[in-house]
Amino acid sequence: MNVRSQIAMVFHLDKCIGCHTCSIACKNVWTDRKGTEYMWWNNVETKPGTGFPTQWENQDKYNGGWVTFQEKLELRSTSKTKTVFNIFHNPHQPSMDDYYEPWTYDYQHLFNAPEGNDQPTAIPLSLVTGKPMETIEAGPNWDDDLGGSPVYAANDPNLKNLPEDQRDQLFAIERLVYFYFPRICNHCLNPSCVAACPSGALYKRGEDGIVLVDQQRCRAWRACVAACPYKKVFYNWFTGKSEKCILCFPRLETGQAPACFHSCVGRIRYLGVLLYDAERIEEVAKRPDIELIDAHRAMILDPHDPEVIAAARTNGISDGVIESAQKSPVYQFVKVWKLALPPHIEYRTLPMLFYVPPLSPVMARRDGDTVDHVSDNLFHDIDESRVPMQFLANLFGAGHEGKVRYALAKQKAVRLYRRAVTVGDITMAMAERALREADCTVDEAEEIYRLTSLCTFDDRFVIPPAQREQAIEMMKDPHEHRQGAGFGFLTGPRRGL
Ligand code: SF4
Ligand code: SF4
Repeated sequence: MNVRSQIAMVFHLDKCIGCHTCSIACKNVWTDRKGTEYMWWNNVETKPGTGFPTQWENQDKYNGGWVTFQEKLELRSTSKTKTVFNIFHNPHQPSMDDYYEPWTYDYQHLFNAPEGNDQPTAIPLSLVTGKPMETIEAGPNWDDDLGGSPVYAANDPNLKNLPEDQRDQLFAIERLVYFYFPRICNHCLNPSCVAACPSGALYKRGEDGIVLVDQQRCRAWRACVAACPYKKVFYNWFTGKSEKCILCFPRLETGQAPACFHSCVGRIRYLGVLLYDAERIEEVAKRPDIELIDAHRAMILDPHDPEVIAAARTNGISDGVIESAQKSPVYQFVKVWKLALPPHIEYRTLPMLFYVPPLSPVMARRDGDTVDHVSDNLFHDIDESRVPMQFLANLFGAGHEGKVRYALAKQKAVRLYRRAVTVGDITMAMAERALREADCTVDEAEEIYRLTSLCTFDDRFVIPPAQREQAIEMMKDPHEHRQGAGFGFLTGPRRGL
């Protein structure tokens, strides 16, 4: 057993209101610089929808992540031979069209326009060329709230294998449905971005598993951009370096939550430490799709187990980190309650960000061709949800429904139970039966309810105490002769090449 620690997160999708505050907070803190205009380290997508960059989940187009070949794990995007041929041009790189051409508006014209009969307008100006843009055809959240609309949602790669009736159900105008899907780098255990980098510039920090790009070593090959199946590494065209979400490590080191977490209006985010067995990474990543979620969960170790604690101490993990792991809300959601699932685990990067799949809409019921909004069956059957089960399974279950069904059934049982407690129009016997059928006890239901609905900031954000002196030391620019921007990001064009 090789015990390591990782800062991990859970996003509770039933709580996300799609306000994009998280994206704006991240943008203001980290990507408000030249060359980063188009970057959204945190973005919020509408599902069904095509996302950012468009269709990022279509690996036939982008070739990201890992595949198994003759019992070996291989990067889809590159290999020793492919690196030579693709090093100057990789046909699977996302292009500006796949992201969007960033723009601003000519706001000054609103003040400086000469007097006239018409109200002055602020025309869009390209942030790349500085010139006026005739049309704007894409943006970082172009299909916002239009989930289910055939124009955009029909291109969502998760519609693959969806039975015809469920596909029709999604696109029937009176049944349009969507949910929000906030995304950041998953700080994976088996990161394809790290494995693909020919310069060794990407690395996973030993102490907390945060995946970073060493700005001094990056040589602009962009192999990381192609290899990340979640498209969460971005190329800065001004500095000639790759950049990505750093999980706000300078904030974490001073005991503050990441900007996206801190600003989250829906309080959907939970952050905590997980202990895992690093020896098993390769073996787990090679498992067949249907076994991946169980195997990934099994790698996450019980922080109360004396054997795990002893092995963690042998590896130099401090008691503070172990105590944090014991109180981790992420451990509860992922391992104990099995409510939170990794996104697209079939990409085999073993993400360390997990999602509680959405149960909404909660009070509608499909009945033949009609939808009852207030039905006598207060909470709909999860198989009759307007978000088809297979769609969620493609997103969170590597195409298999079992784990998603389990998570949804448990959430529904907890709702029934709380309805019985607070309103009383459902009998307690019925609620307890639902809990039993969903593999949940009354005590567990209470804990889930508390951590979901009544949680304080301190319940959602549990990290080990950091040494402030160390943190200040770490924030100093190690290359003082080079001008730094933020924490190590370069300011000049293509410096260090
Ligand atoms: S999500 Fe992408 S960028 Fe982040 S660690 Fe995983 S492979 Fe790397
Ligand atoms: S701030 Fe929170 S609630 Fe708002 S979009 Fe982001 S994750 Fe969702």
